[in-house]
Amino acid sequence: MSHFVTLTLLGTAQDAGLPQAGCGCERCALAHADSSKIRFPVSLGIRGLDGSNHLIEVTRRLPSQLSEWSLSLGEKVSIIPDSVTFTHLHLGHIEGIGQFGKPVMAMKDLPIYSTRKNIDYLEKRIDFKLMVDDGNFNPIGIEFNQPFKPTEECGFTLELIEIPHRNECGDTAGIIIRGIHNSLLYLPDHDTWGETLIKTNSKNIREFFEKIQINEAWIDGTFWNGEELSNRDMSKIPHPTIEESLMRLQKKESNDIKVKFIHFNHTNPVCDERSEERKQIESMGWGVGQRGDVVKL
Ligand SMILES: [Zn+2]
Ligand SMILES: [Zn+2]
Ligand SMILES: [Zn+2]
Repeated sequence: MSHFVTLTLLGTAQDAGLPQAGCGCERCALAHADSSKIRFPVSLGIRGLDGSNHLIEVTRRLPSQLSEWSLSLGEKVSIIPDSVTFTHLHLGHIEGIGQFGKPVMAMKDLPIYSTRKNIDYLEKRIDFKLMVDDGNFNPIGIEFNQPFKPTEECGFTLELIEIPHRNECGDTAGIIIRGIHNSLLYLPDHDTWGETLIKTNSKNIREFFEKIQINEAWIDGTFWNGEELSNRDMSKIPHPTIEESLMRLQKKESNDIKVKFIHFNHTNPVCDERSEERKQIESMGWGVGQRGDVVKL
């Protein structure tokens, strides 16, 4: 038995990853030429005290993410998860689900958790229903604000909290991962701070973090600012920009928790290691999530 629950960040991009299909921008071209510049869509791996493995989000980079996760834990054999939980139905967060089926891993009764509404919706998908009928998945609907343990002795709980985010067909959750020593909020997608703060009955971001009693937060950093997408209507894909989050947070104070941005669009200058924007985040005391980041809970 280990003394800590180990949480590993397995991807830092938004749903599409980097490079993005069909994109000829400089950053995507560079990632095609240099594999070290590739970013996987966001996903987390959690190793429980009992040695069990729990995956958050199933992206289309699942094969690489399971393999990197095991390497980061000093193991050679690719991890096979004991459970899967996903925050919402946007494709990037569930795209790899078919990998658990007959042509690939042929899992047996893999528990898959999300809200009841999300699970119901997924079960209407023929491809998913066929996998459930084949016995690959055990879909489990979870209520908001009801912490659950994916295995009895894993040493942590997952709590889904309701987050306003488009929700065309289901719910969106943020996840509080609560271990024995530390707790982390995972909030990859939301529409606006205004709505999220109203929903969580908080005056500001600090009050929100305080209410849910966490030591660290990994939050939506999809866009740097509102001028990033010249050919798309950004109001149709709302996310609070990092600029806005920084404006709300201001400088990190000594009693503040650790905050890192994740879920970057390919247009976000924060993707570049030496960008001024990244320096600005760091000079204010906040962080930028890196694939392979580990938190002991
Ligand atoms: Zn997303
Ligand atoms: Zn691009
Ligand atoms: Zn989304």
